[in-house]
Amino acid sequence: MSDEIGDLLALPSTTLLIQNSAGKDSQAMAYLLHRQAVARSWRCRILHMHCDLGRMEWHETHGHCRQIVTELGSELVTVSHARFDLLGGIEDRMTRRADAPPFPSSAARYCTAGWKRDPASRWIRNHIGPGEACVVAMGLRAEESSARARKPVWQTRTGADAPTKNRRVIDWHPILHLTESDVWSTLGYSPDQLAEVRSRVRAWRAEGLAGAALMQRVQGMGFRAHPAYALGNSRLSCAMCVLACRQDLVNGMEFRPDTAAALMDIERRSGFSFKQGQSLTSIATGGNGA
Ligand code: SF4
Repeated sequence: MSDEIGDLLALPSTTLLIQNSAGKDSQAMAYLLHRQAVARSWRCRILHMHCDLGRMEWHETHGHCRQIVTELGSELVTVSHARFDLLGGIEDRMTRRADAPPFPSSAARYCTAGWKRDPASRWIRNHIGPGEACVVAMGLRAEESSARARKPVWQTRTGADAPTKNRRVIDWHPILHLTESDVWSTLGYSPDQLAEVRSRVRAWRAEGLAGAALMQRVQGMGFRAHPAYALGNSRLSCAMCVLACRQDLVNGMEFRPDTAAALMDIERRSGFSFKQGQSLTSIATGGNGA
C-alpha cells in the first residue's frame, strides 16, 4: 500500500468506502481490508456501499451484501440512480433514442457510470464534509482485462473531489494484483473445493432441481460466496450483464425470468440484441444466442 493511502486511512477524518457488489472480488477485498484495518490500527471510519441496480440484480444480492457486512460488524450504505433502476434506464433510452442500441455495451458503458459511479459520487458530495477525505475501495483485478491491468493503484476521483471544500476523494484498487485463485482462497476455497461445490449443484440439476427449489438447496449448503458462483457463474453483478458469457446469461435468465422477459421485450421492440451478435431471445429459445 502506498504511504499516501496509509496516511489517509490512519486519520479519523477519513472515510474508507468499500464498494460491495456481492461479487467474489468485493467480498475478498472487504475481508482483506478489515484485516488490514486491525493490523495497522487504522482510525478511519469504515463503511460498505452497494450501488443498487434494481431489477437487473439477482434476488439474493442484497441479502448477500448484508451478510458480508454483518459478519464484519460494519455498516452498509445503499445508493441508486435518482430516477430509474437500470432496467428502467434501458427502457427510457429506447424511448428517447430509437436509432441507437438501448442496451449498454463495452463501448457505451453508461450502466456503470449512471448506476454505480455517479450515485457513489453524489453520496460522497452529500456526506463527506470540508477538510475530510474519502477513499473509495473497488475490487478490480488486473487479470480480468487489459483495460483493468492499465489502471493505477489509486487516483483522485474527479466529480467528487472538491478543492474548494478542501475535500479529498481517492479511488483505490487494493486488490489489483490478486489472481482469481487468491480471491477464492481468501473466501476459504481451493480450486478443488470450489469444483466440488459446483459438481454437487450440477448433480442436483441432473436430478431435475431447477429455479426456486434449486436456489433454496444451494442457499442451504453453507457456501460463503454469492450462490450464483455455486451455480457455475464466472462473474456476478447484474443477473444478465452485457459483458457476460453465455453460461452466466443462461443462469441469470433462469433465476430472474421477470427481468429476462422485460429485456427480451426490449429486444423485440427496439430491434437491437442485448449483446452485439447475441440475443437473449435466441438463448431462451435454445439457439446459440446469435
Ligand atoms: S454488471 Fe454489466 S450490465 Fe450490469 S452495470 Fe455492470 S457492466 Fe453494466
